[in-house]
Amino acid sequence: ALDLPDKRVDSVCPYCGVGCQLTYNVKDNKILFVEGRDGPANHGRLCVKGRYGFDYAHHPQRLRTPLIRREGMPKTGDFTMDPDRVLEVFREATWDEALALAGGSLKRIRDTRGKHALAGFGSAKGSNEEAYLFQKLVRTGFGSNNVDHCTRLCHASSVAALLEGIGSGAVSNPVMDVTQAEVVIVIGANPTVNHPVAATWIKNAVRAGTKLIVCDPRRSDLERHAHRYLQFKPDTDVAMLNAMMHVIVTERLVDQDFIASRTIGYEELEKNVAGYSPEAMAPICGIDAETLRYVARLYATSKGSMILWGMGVSQHVHGTDNARCLIALALMTGQVGRPGTGLHPLRGQNNVQGASDAGLIPMMYPDYQRVDNPAAQAKFEQAWGVKLDPKPGLTVVEIMDAIDAGAIRGMYIMGENPAMSDPDANHARAALASLEHLVVQDIFLTETAYLADVILPASAFAEKTGTFTNTDRLVQLGRQAIDPPGEARQDLWIIQQMACQLGLEWNYGHVSEVFDEMRRTMHSIGGITWDRLERDGAVVYPCVNEGDAGQPVVFTDDFPREDGRARFVPADIIPANERPDADYPLVLITGRQLEHWHTGSMTRRTAVLDALEPDPVALVHPLDLERMGVKPGEVITIESRRGKVALYARADDSSPAGAIFVPFCYYEAAINRLTNAALDPFGKIPEFKYCAIRATPG
Ligand code: SF4
Repeated sequence: ALDLPDKRVDSVCPYCGVGCQLTYNVKDNKILFVEGRDGPANHGRLCVKGRYGFDYAHHPQRLRTPLIRREGMPKTGDFTMDPDRVLEVFREATWDEALALAGGSLKRIRDTRGKHALAGFGSAKGSNEEAYLFQKLVRTGFGSNNVDHCTRLCHASSVAALLEGIGSGAVSNPVMDVTQAEVVIVIGANPTVNHPVAATWIKNAVRAGTKLIVCDPRRSDLERHAHRYLQFKPDTDVAMLNAMMHVIVTERLVDQDFIASRTIGYEELEKNVAGYSPEAMAPICGIDAETLRYVARLYATSKGSMILWGMGVSQHVHGTDNARCLIALALMTGQVGRPGTGLHPLRGQNNVQGASDAGLIPMMYPDYQRVDNPAAQAKFEQAWGVKLDPKPGLTVVEIMDAIDAGAIRGMYIMGENPAMSDPDANHARAALASLEHLVVQDIFLTETAYLADVILPASAFAEKTGTFTNTDRLVQLGRQAIDPPGEARQDLWIIQQMACQLGLEWNYGHVSEVFDEMRRTMHSIGGITWDRLERDGAVVYPCVNEGDAGQPVVFTDDFPREDGRARFVPADIIPANERPDADYPLVLITGRQLEHWHTGSMTRRTAVLDALEPDPVALVHPLDLERMGVKPGEVITIESRRGKVALYARADDSSPAGAIFVPFCYYEAAINRLTNAALDPFGKIPEFKYCAIRATPG
């Protein structure tokens, strides 16, 4: 007989930044099924991950008890252990023993080697409250600002450009504004795969008359809906965008009033783009001059034009420059500050926006208050009652390098999987394995947890209550639907216990107490009360005073910079760090699949999603397959200067010949072993979207 739920709990989806609201249907502490709810971002819609990606919470491999590495067990840096044989490497421990060892070891390193010898990675999958407490623990318990999370790997360059140019790293308009735009540019993003419900709103807008321009080296489903598709050559974003701006300048399509009244620095930008005519850039970017002119005119002259972008823009050594060009395009045409216009970097994880807002980044306290700003330092010293370090901390990749150099000796990692997600993952794994002490808090024995000294079993999304901020700046309430298994505990409790081990006297009760403390230090959410969240389920920020409706569209009057004006920042062409050559003649592009999420730790333990995409695949152009003499479905080996993996070849002409696309979710073919850790100098984001490889049969 069909099981019927005995409980229905309203919550949000644990995957992407769209932030779809859903309802868990539960019986006997087990989620039976999930339904879409009428939330502001989804209005009842869910994608395949939101609808079917819940049963990982009940997977038999869930960590149920604290684990301590057995004496003498080597950290090989390689995840080869069958997770079912976990007790050969680790022994079970009580919470008291595990916390004392974890906290005591980190405390010893801090006291003997200094505060900069420790670092922490939080998680964009955790709640705002978890992110806030985690960064507070690092800043007040470790004593440094060495705290970061995977925002560094997705939109750090976009945020750097946005903060520099318009004073805010968040989106200017919600996704739903595409339905009010005349023209929508989607560049370097594949929403159908990575933000599926957002893609449905884009398609609805097209049906109602919006002209969609898709710009991407890889073809995607959205191309079928596009008015124009610009398949520019990989790594040539700046050439293409500067050429469009050249057209707008030379054909006098700029918004003079907007430039004069609301911006600074236009003259330098105009001078810079003078050297980027469409005719000169066409052979570089691969888009003919007439198409560049047509798209530039369309964008500039429409009543409302909106730009959405993804990691195809951000994950380059010139990611910040790419975003600077998009910002300049919007500013010079006045396409910002109104409904149906604006700039929208599609945020990846369900809470990457909120985790960044909450200060889970090394250079800023909550609400983007710089740690090296004496006024901000004084404010948080007063709020937290400790002396704080004014030195900005290290970022994700810099922390791995600092471990290599012996400067960092202990780490606390909550809900992140850098052994799979970091670039040059062999290097990252070796660095993690070399730590004196590594504490990992997670729900599965991830590839990172395998390298830990102590593993703290944590709670899955549906096992806790907290707030999550979606890509639209909507703060939404995720509610606990089930209890954690065995001895696993809620993350907020674990962070507090770790804080106590480090000498902090924390005693937060309900999660709302943490949220209230956040409101007191974060101007942007000061008006959002817990009661209101419980009643409404979602409130958009900025929401400064109680009773404020919140602002879905910002920059209507001025920009949140000192003089209220946005700033143009010119960009020039910088090539990828590693170009193809005779030894490594192909280009590797990494990314995600619809069915799997990031490092796969959740979705690959979800029955339906794993059945849909069970094996590691490389998407290879048929011409490249022919050159190799490989048939679709056969195994190929892909190799870069940093590592190699073997996986199944799938014929796919989305990418141009010579470029191979591989999702980064497969532990058996962890593609980040191959990627390049070269960083964008501003956002410190690695170049996941371009490195040189070779591919061979077998
Ligand atoms: Fe979840 Fe994103 Fe899918 Fe919505 S679109 S159901 S938030 S994964």
